[in-house]
Amino acid sequence: MSKNIQAIRGMNDCLPQQTPLWQKIEAVLRDVASSYGYSEIRMPIVEMTELFKRSIGEVTDIVEKEMYTFDDRNGDSLTLRPEGTASCVRAGNQHGLLYNQTQRLWYMGPMFRHERPQKGRYRQFHQFGVETFGMHGPDIDAEVIAMTARFWQKAGISDKVRLEINSLGSNEERAAYREALVAFLSKHESALDDDCKRRMLSNPLRVLDSKNPQVQAILTDAPKLSDYFGEQSNAHFNGLCERLDALGIQYQVNSRLVRGLDYYNHTVFEWITDSLGAQGTVCAGGRYDGLVEQLGGKPTPAVGFAMGLERLVLLLETLGLDKDARRIVDVYVVMLGQQAEVKGPALIEKLRDQLPDVRVQLNCGGGNFKKQFKKADKSGAQIALVLGDDEITANQVTIKALREQAEQKTIALDKLAEELNTVL
Ligand code: ATP
Ligand code: MG
Repeated sequence: MSKNIQAIRGMNDCLPQQTPLWQKIEAVLRDVASSYGYSEIRMPIVEMTELFKRSIGEVTDIVEKEMYTFDDRNGDSLTLRPEGTASCVRAGNQHGLLYNQTQRLWYMGPMFRHERPQKGRYRQFHQFGVETFGMHGPDIDAEVIAMTARFWQKAGISDKVRLEINSLGSNEERAAYREALVAFLSKHESALDDDCKRRMLSNPLRVLDSKNPQVQAILTDAPKLSDYFGEQSNAHFNGLCERLDALGIQYQVNSRLVRGLDYYNHTVFEWITDSLGAQGTVCAGGRYDGLVEQLGGKPTPAVGFAMGLERLVLLLETLGLDKDARRIVDVYVVMLGQQAEVKGPALIEKLRDQLPDVRVQLNCGGGNFKKQFKKADKSGAQIALVLGDDEITANQVTIKALREQAEQKTIALDKLAEELNTVL
């Protein structure tokens, strides 16, 4: 017997009992984004490898060890996108969407990173991302954060996520700070772990978010990035804090929040949940004013974020907030007898015309009363409609509540839509 072929490790099927929750989350995200006047953009899943190297940065975790890169048949080096920002900027430049104008965009889809699969971390995962272009002030930073806050509210998880923000200053300020930080770290090199020693040379700011307690202890005395800020960087960050305060959005300033991608400057932020363990960041973003130019466009300020949908799904499941979404059928139709089986479906098509939002599942494959009711119960429907040959002859239908105690009743077929409207 041949062996079953399995899916690739870290790449998940989304099974029928899970898709309703995904669809609900996706619908809320789309609705919230469009309520702020954002448009959808769809980019290819494969891009030139060079795009990610040039944007995310050669010495980041993603480019160093997480990308799915391969040569295609022409010998071009291609990569399955590990994130959406680079592709979005590439598309914006390519189609002239960015120069001298503003854009508010969103996208949603699969991303690929060769990481060690674990809870909340997969090799194919999904992000909802927002990217805005052409706006340099803290007003738009606050807007994208407000949008995420509204999403948590609509998903019912506002009290399960907290916001951390930080500023990385300008590139010049960061360069000056980098020197001071490296000087400081060199003095304490013996206390650093191997990972931090490596990062000290390649990407020293990333040492700041080391999870190693011994490293964290040393960092208490490290120079502070904010001490290197000029007036403009301070004004930008204060402007953001002021707006978040006015919006009533609570946040914590975390001076060690640096993010793993090279292109960020000024504002960075993360939404974190404590309900998922180690993989607690559900949304991360920030400003990347240099990226458009770095990828060949005209200088264009930009800010955006990406949300990890698997982590949101996990969070909603952990909190038991997935129950509603799981119900996919409102009404189950039990048909008893030859006449009912043939004519029932046509009657239900009329009902679908009248109530397009009601989800109706027909019994298929016959079966006695008891067997069909078992299936009705399993479908999760609220209501069963019974069509027997007697009902068909009399133009009637019997309605039975499946989830509560109520008398079943038989009504005229032409009153059915009205009746369902009141009970559902
Ligand atoms: P982490 O610190 O968890 O590795 P990251 O900094 O690499 O995250 P980003 O590149 O900023 O993450 O991606 C934004 C969001 O996408 C993350 O906050 C997370 O919710 C989600 N995400 C990132 N990588 C994965 C993954 N491998 N599996 C599932 N979700 C992911
Ligand atoms: Mg990562």
